[in-house]
Amino acid sequence: MGQTAKGIPELIRYLKRFGYLNKEYSPDDNNQELYDEVLESAVKLYQTFFKLNVTGKLDSETIEVMAKVRCGVPDNPVQVLSKKKQEAIHGKQKHKYLINIGADYAFFPGSPKWGYFELTYRIESSAEPVGGFTVEEFEDALGRAAIEWSDNSMFTIEEAAGGVEPSIRTGFHRGDHGDGFVFTNPTLAHAFAPSDGRMHFNADKHWSINDTLTRDQFDIVWTAIHELGHVLGLDHSVDPNAVMFPTVDPGTTKRNLGGDDIQVLLNMSSNAQSFEEVLTSLQGMSKGQTAQGLHEVRQYLYRFGYLNEKDITSLNDSNKDYFDDVLESALKRYQKYFGLNISGNLDSATIKLMAKPRCGVPDVMESDAGKCYLSGKFVN
Ligand SMILES: [Zn+2]
Ligand SMILES: [Zn+2]
Repeated sequence: MGQTAKGIPELIRYLKRFGYLNKEYSPDDNNQELYDEVLESAVKLYQTFFKLNVTGKLDSETIEVMAKVRCGVPDNPVQVLSKKKQEAIHGKQKHKYLINIGADYAFFPGSPKWGYFELTYRIESSAEPVGGFTVEEFEDALGRAAIEWSDNSMFTIEEAAGGVEPSIRTGFHRGDHGDGFVFTNPTLAHAFAPSDGRMHFNADKHWSINDTLTRDQFDIVWTAIHELGHVLGLDHSVDPNAVMFPTVDPGTTKRNLGGDDIQVLLNMSSNAQSFEEVLTSLQGMSKGQTAQGLHEVRQYLYRFGYLNEKDITSLNDSNKDYFDDVLESALKRYQKYFGLNISGNLDSATIKLMAKPRCGVPDVMESDAGKCYLSGKFVN
């Protein structure tokens, strides 16, 4: 601190650009190149987010991270770090399956949400990517990213059919492409918070869908999963194992949700609120009754591994809201799994639990408690 250097204005631009320095900040008019205490604390915030040594100095480790290619969406360090602080005060959640926002990742400020779960996308590019990367490869990558999130969240994401207005518009763009966020050298891609749906990839980067990449290529699948996370409402994570971590390393692939990504929550959508309302309206229901909304409970139980696909596909409009044997036994399994009173009814304890945000990965009856089963391997 107190030193001056030619690179200071550039550092200021970087810290402002990625959410570490208030946009209003302007350095001392007499000395534009002074490393003052405001800059020092912004650098400390940056170092905390990236789990570096918090020196407040521009040491080589910090410069190395800043030089990395990264997502163009700013980080939200204050939100993430204050949550961690809360966690330190309140302790870790006792039940690992019921994860609230208290983890390393964050939602966009104000938690903007989609009003529905079925999202569609369409490719609309204004530029052709360098290096001969093809539309077919891009389609393939988007399909894989859509499956990854569809399998691990309440959303289903599919390519939009012709003539249908898509919820997500994605494609390759170059430099200044008209949305106010110019693609510069370190920016790989960016996306907008719900429910905007724009998801843009930098056409000047070398993209690849191959399993093995050359040292200058970026994994399109990884980036597509990451940007789609933003489209769904997730902000950057401080967990380096998470797909939602802001930097992307060239030459490497990351194609499954990991770290805290899997904590994709019911409350990512405003439907979470209405699901809660549906649940409340169903309180006390038991076998033999019919009530509008019971099909949503079935979907929930299917989604999290308590009903089979055939239990869902065999339903029609006349019986989907009927509380039958199948629903009763699924509820009993659910209640058993969570150590509730096994009533087979939608009692208040069951309703309360279902309404809570939870891990997006289905429960596995025989698995060790406290673990989520994802893509064939256990993750904590
Ligand atoms: Zn990002
Ligand atoms: Zn853009």
